[in-house]
Amino acid sequence: IAAQVIPMNPPLADGGRLMLVLADRTRERAVERMRADFVANASHELRTPLASLIGFIETLRGPAEDDAVARTRFLGIMAEQAERMRNLIDDLLGLSRIELTEHQAPTGSADIAAIARAEADAMAPILAGRRASLRVEAPEAALARPADAEQIAQIIRNLLENAIRHGREGGEVALTITHGPRKGVTLTVQDDGIGIAKEHIPRLTERFYRVDKGRSRNAGGTGLGLAIVKHIVIRHRGQLNIESQEGVGSRFSVWLPAD
Ligand code: ADP
Repeated sequence: IAAQVIPMNPPLADGGRLMLVLADRTRERAVERMRADFVANASHELRTPLASLIGFIETLRGPAEDDAVARTRFLGIMAEQAERMRNLIDDLLGLSRIELTEHQAPTGSADIAAIARAEADAMAPILAGRRASLRVEAPEAALARPADAEQIAQIIRNLLENAIRHGREGGEVALTITHGPRKGVTLTVQDDGIGIAKEHIPRLTERFYRVDKGRSRNAGGTGLGLAIVKHIVIRHRGQLNIESQEGVGSRFSVWLPAD
């Protein structure tokens, strides 16, 4: 609690009367703390690939100047680190844009089944990298309304990327779209991968929260994917449900209202 003493101005005739203002700042402080932590985390996440890039530039200008084999290898690593920075910046910008519009209800409509099929097709390169397969089950059309089609595509993209990355190598990911429950559409992404221990599940949608930091970074994750999903779901007045069993797999379901 913050207490503030405000002298009355002009002072009253009988002298020193004061007004005491009491305000509960607990929530305000918590928000400030979260913002500061977020900036610190984001800076750290950007600094790591940047430090690596600077290191390789110095090596290429110095000791490895005339080493063609090293140059090719280092340039490959540098390209990966630069890509990582770009993904992170894209996700940071995406998240801030979603947050800015969070209180404005979307106005369009989105055929989730059509979006799901298009996003599934775009996963071919990542699937090939993990020798995994993707099964899609969707009705002819599944309309969510009001909805932002680009944001729905982003939800599907983020959940599929996670399922493939954290799924079993050579495993199968299933993307299912169904009507209901209530007036709505449910999209489910299920994998047969490492799963998530119970204690982590409530924290997965926090920014930069990762069960295994090294594994997530190596797999190309930014740690923001599920935070983005959560904010899009909130904007659509929908629901996100996460079920998982270690060593068996995970299932992420998103329900979106249809009217
Ligand atoms: P990341 O970019 O690291 O995947 P996310 O916000 O998308 O960030 O996910 C946060 C963390 O949740 C991941 O680092 C991972 O530990 C865990 N996670 C997300 N999806 C899955 C999944 N399908 N299977 C196992 N763990 C998952």
